[in-house]
Amino acid sequence: MKAVSITIIGLGPRGLCVLERILSLAAQQPELQVQIVVVNKGIPGQGVHGQSLSDRFLLNTVAGLLTLIPGEAFQPSLLKGTFADFLPWLNQKGIAASAGAYVPRRLFGAYCHELYQRLLERCPLNCQVEYIDDEAIDIQQAGQKEVTCLLTQRKIVSEHVVVAIGHMIPVANSQEMIADIYTAELSSRNIPAGSTVGIQGFGLTAMDAIAELTRGRGGIFVDGIYKPSGNEPNIILFSRSGLPSRARPVDDGCAACAPTLHFNEQAALVLREQRGQAAINFITEIYPLLAQDVAQAMLDREVPTKAAMELMNGLLWPEMSQKNSQEYSAAVVEFVKQDLYEAHLGLSGSAMKRAVEVLMNARDAIRAVVNYGGLTPSSHSWFYNHFASAINRNAIGPQHDRQHELLMLIDAGIVSTPLGPAPELQWAPKKHCWNVRSTVFDTPVSFDLDQLLQGYTSQPTLTKNTSVLLDALVEGGRIHARHTDWLATPGVAVNAESKAVSSYGVAQEHLFITGVMSEGSTYYNWYVPTIVGKSTPFVEAQRIASAVLGYDKETPDEGAGE
Ligand SMILES: Cc1cc2nc3c(=O)[nH]c(=O)nc-3n(C[C@H](O)[C@H](O)[C@H](O)COP(=O)(O)OP(=O)(O)OC[C@H]3O[C@@H](n4cnc5c(N)ncnc54)[C@H](O)[C@@H]3O)c2cc1C
Repeated sequence: MKAVSITIIGLGPRGLCVLERILSLAAQQPELQVQIVVVNKGIPGQGVHGQSLSDRFLLNTVAGLLTLIPGEAFQPSLLKGTFADFLPWLNQKGIAASAGAYVPRRLFGAYCHELYQRLLERCPLNCQVEYIDDEAIDIQQAGQKEVTCLLTQRKIVSEHVVVAIGHMIPVANSQEMIADIYTAELSSRNIPAGSTVGIQGFGLTAMDAIAELTRGRGGIFVDGIYKPSGNEPNIILFSRSGLPSRARPVDDGCAACAPTLHFNEQAALVLREQRGQAAINFITEIYPLLAQDVAQAMLDREVPTKAAMELMNGLLWPEMSQKNSQEYSAAVVEFVKQDLYEAHLGLSGSAMKRAVEVLMNARDAIRAVVNYGGLTPSSHSWFYNHFASAINRNAIGPQHDRQHELLMLIDAGIVSTPLGPAPELQWAPKKHCWNVRSTVFDTPVSFDLDQLLQGYTSQPTLTKNTSVLLDALVEGGRIHARHTDWLATPGVAVNAESKAVSSYGVAQEHLFITGVMSEGSTYYNWYVPTIVGKSTPFVEAQRIASAVLGYDKETPDEGAGE
């Protein structure tokens, strides 16, 4: 009887997708004996969506979209018809959420964990799954085998290893700051009322931190105002760009309102094919095409490329007053107010939101040109360090309720945004605190901070991360960054089969990498699959499962809309 052995390291949503695909495909080959060892730290399935997280930490994807059950393109599935998508699952549990609701992340963690249990119950007779709650610290080659070394010194020998370790514990830039706001217990932590807390970031993580420091400390929102409990600190919000995030539009159920893309996945694949191995310059070749789609969605007509690019620049990097602290603060409030107004109009009512949505919907087209080193080095660096973060800020921003709360907190004097772009942070050893000062105003402002919080979720780099496993793989030459100068991404080099490329440039037949680690080598891995189209996590999981099982069924093409 033929046999195959696979180790999966990391069982968050991505690892779970791989496990589901392997078991579902293996069920089709009863003559094949499949031995799977899963090594994961913590509760299987949940990943960053811990079931013990505060209810104030919300998903930023609406409940009606999420699923871990692969769609029609990925049949057969052991779960199809036996386990529900996330929204019906919530309803089955008696949680009356609507399709457009942003529910606590811990519920999604519970969904993933239950899905894992159902998967084991339906495990085909030819498969065996062993779960080990441990940390993998190295993967070494021994002849044709891969040896996974665990913290407890156990060694797992298998033919294939799939690494899906997702988000690592954030790297603290200094001992004197709180890098992981999700484990910091901000609601009960000893942060005195009225002390000054600086939060770096305007996005989702910053909003989670603010929720803990305000509602988490007893404050309430009533009739459009925030009623403080008296336990809140003074919160100063700032970021490098100085630009607030835009809220997601309300879900108005208007699928037909999705903007039309001329630069769609098909067009991108044609361009990729025409260019063969030659790198594409994102700034000069792709940005203008995206800008034309953005302008078309906004104005409902074609405009010359230069005008389209000016329009897109204005949306992504809007100008805010930098005259003085007061004017900048007022501009932030005005921006958030105006954006919320647009968000409430939904895609059906807001041309601006439709225009920004182009950038969400163009992700597959962008992937088709960007992935696997598709861009010139300088434009690649620009893409990941500037453009991708601009997309996140403008198209994947906080829930609209959170932005509304931000305005109320500013009104109540609990949160302020006095610093403008490019503020300078310095540790003041004598005072033993951080000081942050503005750098763009004629009359600078400066604040001593009692606490500094990292209000963004950072991407680890290969030289700066908290994973022993990553360090060991780099040391052993088993992985390397596709571009060493990337600031914002680990960018572990993988090929189009999700195989890790060694520091010698060789794709390793038996070492697969999927998810966050490959961000930079592939684009946009920070998400859970949705019910729409062929989500990349399923595509990659299917590809990996097919390879390890020698399953010759054709792998569906990458992405076809989320
Ligand atoms: C705070 C936060 C909120 C988010 N919210 C959303 C959202 O609302 N919607 C959305 O679509 N996406 C969201 N994301 C994006 C996120 O990428 C996905 O939701 C998803 O969790 C990614 O799954 P993953 O399996 O790749 O990684 P993770 O969820 O990080 O899971 C990785 C797993 O690997 C384990 N692990 C790590 N290292 C080792 C090791 N060496 N040995 C053994 N096990 C290891 C971890 O313990 C964990 O269980 C969020 C991300 C963050 C950080």
